[in-house]
Amino acid sequence: MNSGAAANLTDPGKTKSVVIVGGGTAGWMTAAYLKAAFGDRVDVTVVESAQIGAIGVGEATFSDIRHFFEFLRLEESDWMPACNATYKLGVRFEDWREPGHHFYHPFEQLGSVDGFSLSDWWLRMPQSSRFDRDCFVMAALCDAERSPRYADGTPLAQGVFENVGDGQSARSNIAEYQGAQFPYAYHFEAHLLAKFLTKYGTDRGVKHITDNVVDVALDHQGFVSHVNTAENGTLSGDLYIDCTGFRALLLKQALGEPFVSFQDTLPNNSAVALQVPMDMERKAIRPCTTATAQDAGWIWTIPLISRIGTGYVYADEYLSAEEAEKTLREFVGPEAADVQANHIKMRIGRSERSWVNNVVGIGLASGFVEPLESTGIFFIHHAIEQIVRYFPGGRDDDVRRDAYNRSIEHVMEGVREFLCLHYVGAKRADNRYWKDTKTRKIPDALAERIEIWKHKVPDSESVYPYYHGLPPYSYNCILLGAGGIEVKHSPALDLADPTAAQVEFDRIRQKADKLVQELPSQNEFFAAMRANAK
Ligand code: FAD
Repeated sequence: MNSGAAANLTDPGKTKSVVIVGGGTAGWMTAAYLKAAFGDRVDVTVVESAQIGAIGVGEATFSDIRHFFEFLRLEESDWMPACNATYKLGVRFEDWREPGHHFYHPFEQLGSVDGFSLSDWWLRMPQSSRFDRDCFVMAALCDAERSPRYADGTPLAQGVFENVGDGQSARSNIAEYQGAQFPYAYHFEAHLLAKFLTKYGTDRGVKHITDNVVDVALDHQGFVSHVNTAENGTLSGDLYIDCTGFRALLLKQALGEPFVSFQDTLPNNSAVALQVPMDMERKAIRPCTTATAQDAGWIWTIPLISRIGTGYVYADEYLSAEEAEKTLREFVGPEAADVQANHIKMRIGRSERSWVNNVVGIGLASGFVEPLESTGIFFIHHAIEQIVRYFPGGRDDDVRRDAYNRSIEHVMEGVREFLCLHYVGAKRADNRYWKDTKTRKIPDALAERIEIWKHKVPDSESVYPYYHGLPPYSYNCILLGAGGIEVKHSPALDLADPTAAQVEFDRIRQKADKLVQELPSQNEFFAAMRANAK
């Protein structure tokens, strides 16, 4: 670990003390980040309940998470072993098109040739039936269950993406590439990450109180003046961060901020989760999160060093909790026979504003869109970055508050659209649940975009203003992978010379074949790391 994540930012202004209520992933990520940003110039207190547990899920991430650890000046070797973490190259979707079919949404930019996206070229001249295999190196690595690091620890990015592409592709230059997309994310045990960040934070001066917040007091302007705890008296600060999960104790319960439900467009509102013991000797650690379509939703599979996290996300309008648990247990097999199931009710949507007066909701307290693309922690990270960027100067902070709230709204609404695309764009339509996904209301803007995408694959213009949340290539992956919406190539490509595009397709295939030979499996990689550490 690099010592002393020195303060990165200058004077935080009038806000000198922050009280964070809640110590799950959101609470501790926020506390650690604020310390890394401001050092001793801001007092940070985290109060978390011993009785009210954290939600106990949330173990797959998006590739942007790398910037979080970088900001904290942490190397992978500092935190990964402590959190039983593994690598994730993307999301594997199984049975969304038809039984037995799978495709990936990898963490890899889509190239372009002669000004046209490779996906457009692929529609014009498909190399195989697999868009993902033809256009991304990562899809082959996921299929072959490879690690993104070589056996000696060298990361894939240093070896793979140099000199790749045709000069127009973001992948043609490693620095540019990394700015646009990093090739992998992580899976980790959420409670171990919270524990790791607790130590990180308290080592740097975060005050940690284990207690229940029982009351939130407001002043005459509706700002929080203090919170009362059961055993530690009163806590007060300039800024309060609500990380109390779905309860949203400050934002919803005390300030009464309205909630914008996404239930009409995303009906999955329940989940049942199991933590299945992992036998690394017998089972491959797949380098991806798997989302397997089911009769009333989908099952996630997240491989960790210690265990497999799995759960069925479903709509209770179509399936009972008992049936969901039964299906999940059958899916997992006898290994989970003795494991207790965790049933969860999900509040799908967002707080109308996440920053109200001197309260900012982060994590589930601010909002949540079902975990299909592992965006919960991505939302947390984005919110923390924004709160540091728009750090409150005082009570007259309306402009900053509005800018912050707009940013949070854009990211959440963008992800909402993106997830809706998975369902309306999936070819599967074999029962009431899946048929309804084709007729259910979707956001108007998405409906308009889909009409455009039928004639022109997603690009930065057609995904605006959600571009910074999810890049156009992500939409391409789902649209062309899930197979329910017919997409045509640009007519201009019928007139264009395909030679350079063919060279690019050949290069991707050769690169993928070579890497599959060179890279170890994750099991081999982590076994080597453990042996080296001894
Ligand atoms: P929690 O983890 O619930 O923490 C709440 C904290 O508040 C706890 O510490 C609790 O003690 C404290 N608290 C509550 N009330 C009080 C009180 N009165 N006084 C003091 N303390 C209090 N995200 C991803 O990025 N990837 C995934 O794969 C993923 N999968 C998910 C699967 C499901 C089924 C669900 C529901 C969510 C998933 N998420 C995922 C989202 C992810 O779980 C959350 O983003 C993450 O766990 C953050 O949770 P949190 O910190 O907001 O809330």
